[in-house]
Amino acid sequence: VADGVEARAEDLARVETADNGALLRSHRRGVMPRVAHNLRYFADRLLALAHPDFETRGHTNHVTWDPAGPAVLITPWNAPLMLATWKIAPALAAGSTVVLKPAEWTPLTASLFADITHGAGLPPGVFNLVQGYGDEVGAALVADADVRRVSFTGSVPTARRIATAAAAHLTPCSFELGGKSPLLVFADADLELAADLAVEQYDNAGQVCLAATRILVEESVRDAFLGHFLDRVTKVTQGDPRDEATGIGPTIHPRHVERVDGFVRRALAAGATPVIGGGRNTGLGGNYYLPTLLTGVAQDSEIVQEEVFGPVLTLQTFPDGDEEEAVRLANGTRFGLAATLVTGDRDRAERITARLVAGTVWVNCFFVRDLSAPFGGSRQSGVGREGGDWSFDFYCDLKNTVTAPGKWEARHG
Ligand code: NAD
Ligand code: MN
Repeated sequence: VADGVEARAEDLARVETADNGALLRSHRRGVMPRVAHNLRYFADRLLALAHPDFETRGHTNHVTWDPAGPAVLITPWNAPLMLATWKIAPALAAGSTVVLKPAEWTPLTASLFADITHGAGLPPGVFNLVQGYGDEVGAALVADADVRRVSFTGSVPTARRIATAAAAHLTPCSFELGGKSPLLVFADADLELAADLAVEQYDNAGQVCLAATRILVEESVRDAFLGHFLDRVTKVTQGDPRDEATGIGPTIHPRHVERVDGFVRRALAAGATPVIGGGRNTGLGGNYYLPTLLTGVAQDSEIVQEEVFGPVLTLQTFPDGDEEEAVRLANGTRFGLAATLVTGDRDRAERITARLVAGTVWVNCFFVRDLSAPFGGSRQSGVGREGGDWSFDFYCDLKNTVTAPGKWEARHG
């Protein structure tokens, strides 16, 4: 299947861009190679799956991973094939059959993928694709008594509906949900790096669950940080996602732009000030939203507490030397997907990291993701972890076989 993805990578990249509007060059160079890697990685990982045997009063304990059975996979529109194969690969490798239901706004690459699995010789019924709306097709799938696993990536309200439906048959669920992650910038940080990382948060027009949308900067370096940030962000061009020069493309759908703009309007009405942006990029048409940075936002305000899922960042400060307050702000939402901190002090990095509530913490970097790492969110950002052996733990039923010593010869010897 990975070979088939590589053979059709250019088609997949073009179709994905046509469908969701994310940058063609990133689909070509980053995403589709990663899709193939998802498949190869979990196939290889399966062969390495092992737990050392251990003894109990001379008895041997031997752990094996049995396929759990049919897995329903439900995915969002922001990174369609990437997020789908991150689930499909371990589920198939584990020996479970799969039913994928992609998001209704981005169905196309999943259909191409189904052709690829067929071409690769997967037996009928092993990989299954069902297209349709979430509240009809998705809801029917997750409520089915024969389904043994549900893995869902999407929003918190949908996860609640799925958990409720899955409760009827106690179907185990894995949830990768939203975020409102902080980017902490300390006075001892490399501020150019901090500014680079901040501008990166506009990638995919901010439609990234992991995006560090809340910039928290130590008071004394606020202005210097902002200077570096503005230098960079004003050089990023917004435009056609198929154009190599484009840094920020459109948002997915007019309805989504409306939602993003609603958050910004209400923030401005509540007293926020736009440092940049604050509305649609009218020169480009209805789907483009300007990269936006808002200051003058209160910790308990909607714009700081709720996931916007667009190119909208907020900037808050904490008093000089006040790590306590930095951590309080960073942890001060109901999410806990990721956190990024920029500091030149290793001891500080360790102190702060230990206190952050997040599934992933990046120190002086962002978006470095190894398939072996556990991935998921704390609090309402998710339930469970996938990635590496954790994916197999989810898509399998683990079995421990305990064998007594010395009973063989008696019967057969
Ligand atoms: P969404 O929750 O609206 O939809 C996701 C999927 O669920 C779609 O396929 C949809 O059809 C389906 N669905 C909707 N209602 C359903 C129901 N009742 N039963 C079963 N399935 C149903 O999310 P979205 O708008 O497509 O995606 C954006 C969200 O996804 C954001 O909150 C974002 O943070 C999150 N996300 C999380 C991660 C992660 O790994 N943590 C990655 C990407 C996106
Ligand atoms: Mn949605």
